[in-house]
Amino acid sequence: MKFSDFEDCHSCDKKEFCSRSSGLVYLNSGKYTGSDKHTCDVAGIVKDMYLSEKS
Ligand code: SF4
Repeated sequence: MKFSDFEDCHSCDKKEFCSRSSGLVYLNSGKYTGSDKHTCDVAGIVKDMYLSEKS
């Protein structure tokens, strides 16, 4: 399995801030290589906090 198999994630601009768990994503979405709204929302919040502290 390669990172490119995770189609939602490999080009995501929040991946550096994401603590994605394939098990949690599978439970929430039924797709092992997908993403789920909660995980993406948390990554977005972490990214926003990082950028606001940096500016
Ligand atoms: S789970 Fe969501 S926020 Fe995390 S890398 Fe994948 S698409 Fe991006």
